[in-house]
Formats: sequence, C-alpha cells, structure tokens
Amino acid sequence: MTTPKIPKRGRGRRALPARGVDWLHNPVFNKGTAFTDAERDALGLRGLLPPHVQTMAEQVRRVMANFRSKSSDLERYIQMVALQDRNETLFYRVVMDHLEDMLPIIYTPTVGKACQEYGHIFRRARGFYLSSHDRGLVGKILRNWPTRDVKVIVVTDGERILGLGDLGAFGMGIPVGKLSLYTACAGIHPTQCLPVTLDVGTDNETLLADPLYIGLRQKRIRGDEYDAFIEEFMAAAQKLFPGVLIQFEDFGNRNAFRLLEHYRDRACTFNDDIQGTGAVALAGILSALHITGKKLADQRVLFLGAGEAGIGIAENLVACLVAEGLAPAEACRRCWFVDSKGLVVKGRDALTEHKVRFAHEHAPCADLFSAVQTLKPTMLVGASGQPKTFTEEIVRAMAGFNERPVVFALSNPTSKAECTAEEAYHWTDGRAIFASGSPFAPVTVAGKTHVPGQGNNAYIFPGVGLGVVCTGARRVTDTMFIKAARTLASLIREHELAEGRVYPSLNRIHEVSHAIAVAVAEEVFARQLNTRSRPDDLAGFIRSQMFKPEYPDYSKVLA
Ligand code: NAD
Repeated sequence: MTTPKIPKRGRGRRALPARGVDWLHNPVFNKGTAFTDAERDALGLRGLLPPHVQTMAEQVRRVMANFRSKSSDLERYIQMVALQDRNETLFYRVVMDHLEDMLPIIYTPTVGKACQEYGHIFRRARGFYLSSHDRGLVGKILRNWPTRDVKVIVVTDGERILGLGDLGAFGMGIPVGKLSLYTACAGIHPTQCLPVTLDVGTDNETLLADPLYIGLRQKRIRGDEYDAFIEEFMAAAQKLFPGVLIQFEDFGNRNAFRLLEHYRDRACTFNDDIQGTGAVALAGILSALHITGKKLADQRVLFLGAGEAGIGIAENLVACLVAEGLAPAEACRRCWFVDSKGLVVKGRDALTEHKVRFAHEHAPCADLFSAVQTLKPTMLVGASGQPKTFTEEIVRAMAGFNERPVVFALSNPTSKAECTAEEAYHWTDGRAIFASGSPFAPVTVAGKTHVPGQGNNAYIFPGVGLGVVCTGARRVTDTMFIKAARTLASLIREHELAEGRVYPSLNRIHEVSHAIAVAVAEEVFARQLNTRSRPDDLAGFIRSQMFKPEYPDYSKVLA
C-alpha cells in the first residue's frame, strides 16, 4: 500500500493550504487534534487546537463512541458525512477499520433514507452538479472542479435511486456514497474520485412541491434534449480527464440500457446497476452451487423484475453458461422472468428488446405464485423493488421441490426486500440459501445459525475500477465482470459456506478488491485494452497503488 505522499505547492485540490486555520478547514490535509507539536509550530496552528496531541487511534475511538451513541442511522450518516467534510483521512481510517458497521450507513440501506431527506439534512455541498440549464457550458463549468487528476466518475441523473424511484437532485447521496466505497474497499485515492449529479429535473411531485428541494423545479427533460445533455457531459468529462472511468448509476431503465449500448464502445464506462449487479449475483449463484453441489446448467432461475438488475444478472448467467458449452438459446432458457404484467412469454404484447430473448414458449401466468408452481425453479431472484412479494406460500413452494432452495431478495433498501432473511429461513426450516441487497442479521432456526449473504455491489465495482485505473484500460467489457464474479466466488472459504454465506465476510473486502483488480487487469492486458505497460509484478504493483489512510508528517513541508 502507498505511504501518504505530501503534495507539492501549486494549483489543484491537493495543493498545500496557506498557514494556520486553512489547514484545519481543508479535509484533504486536516489532521485535527492529531497535528503534532512540530507541525503546529511549522503550520501556525498553536492555539487553534487543544493542547493534547491525539493519536489517530484515539481519534478513531472517539468517532466510534459518538457513532454508537447516536439514536438513529440517519444521525450516524450525518456524523460520517460531516467527518468526511472535515478530515478525509480519519474518515477513511474509521470506515476501513469498521466496514461491517459503516457500509450500511454510508451506503444501502441508510443512504436511501439520506437521499430521501437530502435537502433537509443538507449541510455542505459535496460532488459536482450539472443542470440541464448548463447546456452549452458543461465543459467550462466542469473546469471548476479543483483537480485534473480524476480517475473515476460516478454519475447519476437521480431517476431510479435504489428501489426508491425518482429523487432528482436528492440522488447525489448515491455517487458520493459509491465513490466512498471505491476508496474504502479498493483504495482508489479519494481526490481521484468525482461524484456527479446531472440535474435534468424530476417528475416527483412531492419533491417539486418541497420548499427544501435543492434541484431544478421542472419536469425531467427527455428525448433529444436529454441525449444532447448526456453527450455534452460525456465529451467534456473525457476531454478534461482523459481516460477517466465513468460509472453510470441509478438511471431509469429506459435510459440505462440505451446509454450503456451507446457509450460502451466509445468511452471507458459501465453501468453498475446492470453489469455490477449481474456480477455480484452471479458470484452468489456460483457460491450457492458450491453448497448444493449442483451444476449451473441444471438450474432454472426465475426472476421477479425484468429491469436493469434482473436482466443484468441473466445476461451474466447466459455468458457463463455459453462459456461452459451451452448454445446461447439454450442458456437463455435457464432464465425466466415475471414482471409487473406476469410471466414474460413469447407473443406477449410490447416486450422491450431486453426481455425478448428471455420470452419463452409458455402459457401466460398472471402472478409469481402460479409461475413458481408451473416452472418449479431451483432459484428465485427478486429484483423488482416490490417488498413482501416473496410470500410464505411462494417460499414454501420453493422448499417443496428443492432440498436447498436458493432465494435472493435483492431489492433495496431493506424496506423493499422481497422477503426478509428471517422469513426465508423460517419458511424453509433453515434450508434456504439466502442473499439480499441490503444487510440482514444472522438468523437461528432449530439451533443452527444462518448468515445471510449481502449481494452488495461493493464486492465487485471497486475492484473492477482499481483494475481499470491501474492498467489505464480504454474500455470496460462484460468479460471483466464475469472474471470478477468468478474471482469473488473463488474466494469464499469452506467455513463461510458452512454458515450459509454465499459471499466472503465484508472484512475481507480489500483482499477481494485486490484479487478482482488483478483478474480484471489480466483481462485488460490479454485484450490489449491497456494504455499503461504491464508491470513485472502485477499484483504487487496494484497493491502499491492502493490508498492507505495515514497521516503524513507535515512538520518539514513549510521549512
Ligand atoms: P428497474 O426499474 O430497472 O426494474 C424493476 C423491474 O421490476 C421492472 O422490470 C418492473 O417491471 C418490475 N416490477 C415492478 N413492479 C413489479 C411487480 N409488482 N411484480 C413484478 N415485477 C415488477 O430497477 P432495477 O435497477 O432492476 O432495480 C430493481 C431493484 O433491485 C431495486 O430495488 C434495486 O435497489 C435492487 N438492486 C439490488 C442490487 C443488489 O442487490 N446488489 C443491485 C442493483 C439493484
């Protein structure tokens, strides 16, 4: 891992502050009470801090004591964002050392609540806002970002925030949170991350009427006007930050698929809701097969929800099956979908392009229960954003014809999960292999404790991003995500499988991200998509690029 580098004087976000209080007000350099006596003398900080010099470990203990004393998760979110605004190094030290406590706060489920309340809990702007009123000026405005060394952008237009729908400019919590995960999970340097919200309006009437709404008070722009704005952003971002990785996040599905198709061969870009979800769920499925001892080709997977997540997962499954020797049409037949209009079958009206290949010859089924009864799936995957849709009769039916039914309730946040972990384990007498999108606590049934898997995209995208950044990859391919999924599944240990986990513990996320980055980098070099030459020791090089939250010694810098 890198030892902290002291930046040079000069322009940019990492330029050193002037003397004194500026050091305390710059989150990149601030050490707070940990500035040493020598630093306090050198930087003009005497008197601006209480006399006792704290170690970082003492600061971490203080932050965690405050964190635990808060009365709600939203309060914890506000505390952590405030810390990030004050002292980025300490923020990442705390997050990296307490990932299992922190991920549910800085990301799903709490980030969902934070987005719903974003204008109400707003303290200080974070990230970059471009509005459709900025059309024609996007390149110029983007130059206001204080550094050119941006390696990863996460961008949203706020139309489909988690399973919560259109939150407009309140969606900024998502790119901010995702980029925190890039740093916390894979060590991408925080100053190389740029969260962007494209405010194209909102169709959410509640927000439009909310006096504390922070975005444009207009309906969403659509059609050519929308596409031109996205194009202007993509061109400007690539020009200002050459080679930057651009992750699309939480776009409505009518735009998400289209934009991915349009830009995947023109930019270094991917859509996490489609490709990242596809990979994390595929890894969970491969791990589940370790437990059941069955083959992928023998599975019948029934999805509830045929949107970005469901289709993304099915596409990855198909790619995996084809790699195992199945014909594409045969591979597609392993995947079935129920959407808001019932079972997706051949001949059904107005099927979108992405559903067509999964529309098989079959009599219509109006609802999930009847589809489960007739298809007898081995795996049930929820990606509908509709809570409580895996009912007791459905889950019991799954347990009726499967010794170990696989039930993944992936909708986020927790309130949208198709069923809870407790329900899945109790209704199957502890036989279910369960994973969810948001975390659930372990459940004990008949004396045996089951640890639910969390199909958190954070297992995948930070490692993929690290591999892309370290190789200067020109494109992101589907194969990279399949490799990432296989790598993730390969890292699960026997004792974790024995607890019913289908993912490694989150505490192993750095090891996971590093291994995924190496696998992705191998693919980049194999496909000659690299713009950087291959180092002799690829794994060592990637490890050396990972940010480590430690305080540099600033006492000599102004001497
Ligand atoms: P989306 O809007 O693209 O798709 C939602 C799909 O659900 C659509 O096909 C819609 O027709 C269908 N649907 C809606 N109501 C339904 C109903 N009553 N019955 C059956 N189907 C219904 O959204 P998405 O990006 O696919 O996300 C869906 C959910 O998956 C969200 O809650 C999201 O948070 C979650 N998700 C989880 C993960 C993860 O676990 N890692 C990753 C991405 C998304």
